[in-house]
Parts: sequence; structure tokens; C-alpha cells
Amino acid sequence: MRSSTKTGIALTAALLALPVYAQNPLNSHSHGSATVQLVQRDQELVIYVRATGIDMLGVGHLPTTTEEQAKLSQVQGSMRNPGYWIGLPAAAGCSMTRYYPSQHPVVAGRGALQEMSPGKVYESNGEHMDLNFTYHFQCNSPNQLNSAQIRLFEHFPSLQSVNVKIAGFNQTVVTVGPDNPVVQIP
Ligand SMILES: [Zn+2]
Repeated sequence: MRSSTKTGIALTAALLALPVYAQNPLNSHSHGSATVQLVQRDQELVIYVRATGIDMLGVGHLPTTTEEQAKLSQVQGSMRNPGYWIGLPAAAGCSMTRYYPSQHPVVAGRGALQEMSPGKVYESNGEHMDLNFTYHFQCNSPNQLNSAQIRLFEHFPSLQSVNVKIAGFNQTVVTVGPDNPVVQIP
């Protein structure tokens, strides 16, 4: 399934335009911390999550060994099911239309760079890596989107905090942790 509405394209462009690296705590590369953004417009919901390679894979750099690549495939397979890591109200009736995982090298002083391509050699892939996941949903009752439970802590125990930015509703940024993983959406 693939979302090809104009709204979907516009929201994707808005999300891709968001990263303002380094200066923005939402986009800094900080072990133990992840970022989630929820953007809703009409019936479309776009969710973007970013975490460090260290927290998700136990490996900071682009996977090179067979074991590291297997771990990456396993995490990407688990993350394909959004319910694995985020709980949305069933009453909102959201169904996923698109899932897109990517990896980004992180360079000191420059922040996260463009997406890595498998098989390509990177100057700086030995340093750090972010894993990004983007989801598009269509929601039957978007007005029922009043909370989100972040379950990343259950699967990635080195995570201490997740910054959740909500846009398209009333804009807000909330930090959640293992002991308070539920975000109220205003
Ligand atoms: Zn790192």
C-alpha cells in the first residue's frame, strides 16, 4: 500500500524540512535519547521516530558484519509494526499506509547527514549512526487521537528519554521516560 495523496507529499516535505541539526535538541545525537514527531492534518497522520544506533542495535556505526546487519534487519522488521513501539487510541481508527526506515551517519559538528545507501562507502561511517523510521497513517477519526504511549523503552532498555514533538494539533514538545511513557495530545 502506498500513500500518494497530495497531503501525504506535503506532510513528507514538511517533515523532511524539519531537521535543524545540532542546535535543536530534537535533532541532536544523544545516546539514551530518542525523538518522535507526530504531525496530523485532516485524516493523515505522519509519525517520525529517530534513535541512535547504539540504543537500537548496540552498534554505533553503519552495520558491517553479518551479525550487525542481521540485528538491523530484525529491528527494522519489528519497527514495521507501529504497535511494537507506539500505542495509538484504537478509536482513532488509524491504519498504516507507508513505512520507511533509513540510516544516517552522524558527524561531530555537522549532525546527521543524508541517508546511507547499502554498499556505498562512507568517509565517516565509523563514528555514529541514527536510525530513522517514518510512518504514514490514514485515521478514520483523527479527533480521537488524544494520547500516544511510547513503548520504545520496553525494547531498547538503554533509552532513558524520548522527546515527543506534536505538530498539526496544538504544537507541543513533551519528554517521556520509562516511568511515564504516555503522551497526552492536546
Ligand atoms: Zn552515537
